[in-house]
Amino acid sequence: MAFGSSALSSNASLDPYWWRAAPHEDAQRAAPPKRTDVAIVGSGITGLTAAIALARGGRQVTVFEAKEPGHGASTRNAGYVGRTLKHSFGEIMAHEGLDKAKAVYGELMEAFLAVKETVDRENIDCHYKQQGRLLLATSSAMREAMAREFTLREKHLGERFQLVSRADQHSEIASDHYFGGVRIADHAGLHPGLYHKGLLDAARAAGVGICAFTPVLGFRKEETGFTVFLKGARTEARDLVFATNGYGGREFPWLQRRIMPFHAYQAVSAPMSENRVRALLPGDRTFIDWNFNVDWMRIAPGDNTRITFGGLTGEIDADLRVMGERLKHRLVRIFPEMGDLQFDHVWTGKCGGTFDITPRIGRHEGVYYGSGYCFAGVPMGTLFGKKIARRILGGEGGDSVFDTEPPSKFWYRGNAWFVPYALKWMSRNDR
Ligand SMILES: Cc1cc2nc3c(=O)[nH]c(=O)nc-3n(C[C@H](O)[C@H](O)[C@H](O)COP(=O)(O)OP(=O)(O)OC[C@H]3O[C@@H](n4cnc5c(N)ncnc54)[C@H](O)[C@@H]3O)c2cc1C
Repeated sequence: MAFGSSALSSNASLDPYWWRAAPHEDAQRAAPPKRTDVAIVGSGITGLTAAIALARGGRQVTVFEAKEPGHGASTRNAGYVGRTLKHSFGEIMAHEGLDKAKAVYGELMEAFLAVKETVDRENIDCHYKQQGRLLLATSSAMREAMAREFTLREKHLGERFQLVSRADQHSEIASDHYFGGVRIADHAGLHPGLYHKGLLDAARAAGVGICAFTPVLGFRKEETGFTVFLKGARTEARDLVFATNGYGGREFPWLQRRIMPFHAYQAVSAPMSENRVRALLPGDRTFIDWNFNVDWMRIAPGDNTRITFGGLTGEIDADLRVMGERLKHRLVRIFPEMGDLQFDHVWTGKCGGTFDITPRIGRHEGVYYGSGYCFAGVPMGTLFGKKIARRILGGEGGDSVFDTEPPSKFWYRGNAWFVPYALKWMSRNDR
């Protein structure tokens, strides 16, 4: 198996590839308002979708962002739009009954549809495409388990799928690494940078104030709202929303004790001929394996000359050049002929996970939050942002099956040092 000496091209960037098409603006630190109806902490998908709906509902909205707008995972992800949860339909059905399983997966469908609805409504040109997803098995036992799970989903949810045999997988992916899988025709993909840019433009057009480089340091509950503490300033807000996911910290200790941050890594190849790209991934799906700790790959949207590959979730935040080498090593296991491949972008981003690996939307002592997406924040963040806005505006549609208090551990104070080891353990189970 060939393995090139360096996985990174000489001019490789350690910023997300998506920032090329949607560069971060040189936002100035705008003076925060003395008063606002709704203060939102975090300018990712969750914060902006909430902000847009609230501003259109007549509220004066201010988004506080510690860094530049879109600094978090919303501009660093892989752009997969599906109905994804770490707990299978069969597992929920076995432990909590069929009705609960249907309610949970029904809301995943609501989230999936919310992205398309948002892209259409805001007219966001972000290469949204229902290109289908190929879920790949890394053993024949896994493929059988997948067949059982998707047969259940078809029976109870009416979701169509196709089993792909190991012999047939070459029409989708030029690799013998996998043992076939499951194809879901309607899953989608988008360009994360452009999706976020579309949301940011829509928020501004709706009148939302964006205070970049303005970290929220803390808050105090008042009789009629909140005082939000900033560096050298404060803002009074009637409602307060936390949309910080894997980037949250001590400013909201209760949430910090319930959301564990962890890193995921991604890379984009240097340009190749379109023919070579098509030969590697002829199916042009979003590809992902069915392990707990996943590898994923797809043709980079907007440019058919590159592939993007990700994985190593939960690894200690190491030198990105080393992580690039490790990602390449994993990619070459899948495509042994790719030894000459070089990445020209390698980056990381922080996800947020709950102790029971289930996303949450809720309200604690008056503060709204949506978080813990575990890799499904593109659809779930879009939906939870909308739902938080509906709760504040008092309309219908804010209810959620994910509205239960996220668990914590008495010993956990926000230092998730154990996540890399827990994920290593899960990876052993995957094998
Ligand atoms: C490499 C990678 C690949 C992924 N792939 C996918 C995928 O394909 N599909 C999918 O659905 N999900 C994916 N995810 C997960 C998804 O990106 C996230 O779940 C989602 O973007 C979370 O959005 P958010 O708006 O809640 O938070 P974020 O986008 O993370 O935004 C949080 C923001 O809060 C800000 N902030 C934090 N604290 C403060 C403070 N005190 N004051 C002010 N601002 C603050 C941060 O600076 C940050 O900008 C991936 C994640 C990673 C890292």
